[in-house]
Amino acid sequence: MKPVHDMGVAELAAALKSRALSSREATQALLGRIAAHDKSLGAFLHVDADGALARAAAADALLAAGHGGALTGIPLAHKDIYVTADMPTTAGSKILAGYRSPFDATVVARLNAAGTVSLGKLNCDEFAMGSANENSAFFPANNPWDLSRVPGGSSGGSAVAVAARLVPGVTGTDTGGSIRQPASFTGITGIKPTYGVCSRYGMIAFASSLDQAGPMARSAEDCALLLSAMSGFDERDATSVNQPPQDFHAQMLAAREGATAAQPLKGLRIGLPREFFPAGLSADVNAAVRAGLAELEKLGATLVDVSLPRTELAIPVYYIIAPAEASSNLSRFDGVKFGHRAAKYDDLLDMYKKTRAEGFGAEVKRRIMIGTYVLSHGYYDAYYLQAQKLRRMIADDFQQCFTQCDVIAGPVAPTVAWKHGEGKDDPTQAYLADIFTLPGSLAGLPGMSVPVGTGAGGLPVGLQLIGNYFKEGQLLHAAHALQQATDWHTRAPAGI
Ligand code: GLN
Repeated sequence: MKPVHDMGVAELAAALKSRALSSREATQALLGRIAAHDKSLGAFLHVDADGALARAAAADALLAAGHGGALTGIPLAHKDIYVTADMPTTAGSKILAGYRSPFDATVVARLNAAGTVSLGKLNCDEFAMGSANENSAFFPANNPWDLSRVPGGSSGGSAVAVAARLVPGVTGTDTGGSIRQPASFTGITGIKPTYGVCSRYGMIAFASSLDQAGPMARSAEDCALLLSAMSGFDERDATSVNQPPQDFHAQMLAAREGATAAQPLKGLRIGLPREFFPAGLSADVNAAVRAGLAELEKLGATLVDVSLPRTELAIPVYYIIAPAEASSNLSRFDGVKFGHRAAKYDDLLDMYKKTRAEGFGAEVKRRIMIGTYVLSHGYYDAYYLQAQKLRRMIADDFQQCFTQCDVIAGPVAPTVAWKHGEGKDDPTQAYLADIFTLPGSLAGLPGMSVPVGTGAGGLPVGLQLIGNYFKEGQLLHAAHALQQATDWHTRAPAGI
């Protein structure tokens, strides 16, 4: 049998089911790996070894009694933006120091109910604002392919934990690319479903009209298994979509009409927006993405040229709408209800001011200020309302594309992972790098990152696949076909 850390979710589930391995053994092995390697990686903000071993023992009892489900006993970890009753929750921020939620986020509760074993909480950018995990109030996370580089963000710790094989699957969240971009930077697979497919209840809100939960793992198959358990209607989230539970694994496997064994993607039209391949796209990313597309063509897909003419506008639109919503959402952190409160203050207003000045990091403060500004009287019409109108036009552009293709493809990010510290002083640089993930987010569409090789310095590159609403199954199907024919997703960083 392979070492536990070399097994993905599906493989591990088969080993657990056959009783070749117990959940306790698997959990112990991964806890050992975390203890050995996470000091240099910085993936975890909190590890709950005792709790994990107890949960694993309970899962083993279920498996022994023949009551295990598809995910019973699988070790996982959660982005620290999901509230959890049995572990602290920080959202990567000092302002939540000492906070303990009285309940679990729906996504976490569902994965727990499916028998998964949570090992701990994962590092992330403060309130999920960032693209490098360098906005974590605690410590940065490091890319296991090159520790001097960022793993992407905001779900950076999540990506590192999977890429370094500390855990086979994790949860992430994606507001403007936070699942897809770190997946791309670390060579793993991640999917952000259609807005509304996963409940946002208990996911600490950044920009509520954009925030979505999703899984990150090594393969599309593992993501499909996790997403089936995480998703589904939740009456506690008013934007949750009321549709019957989905079996994404079955959807991933379902053969296309007219498909053959050699050409499982026969007839699939993949649209390449010309704006996703600009002159400034780095050559290594372009080459890897083209190699991935060539494989998809071999599998029977046809490539068609399409256009998303407002791609560049997605950046200013997102960086008005997301901060506007953040400024409202973050007003609840006032020193009264949650976490940190300033030790010394004169009166109530002074307490609010000092608490927020001490508790929030620079990027969060910047966004609260931008958001407050664009919503203020006199500027609302000029900025916020204009951005909302453009958001609708961006979504309409996608519908125009989907009359010509089934799936849209392109790079996830314009470059491979950058060095720690690069661009830290210039937030606009980081905002511009979100160009390919923001349009799909604003439209609320499902999007995936699938590893398609390496670029400069042997660093991973992800191919982005964007589907129409509720077409997660189609994305997973295409990604799975690609992963059946290639081995990019099985490559692991050396030395860990
Ligand atoms: N990088 C984007 C931002 O900083 C997206 C973050 C996210 O998806 N949570 O807002």
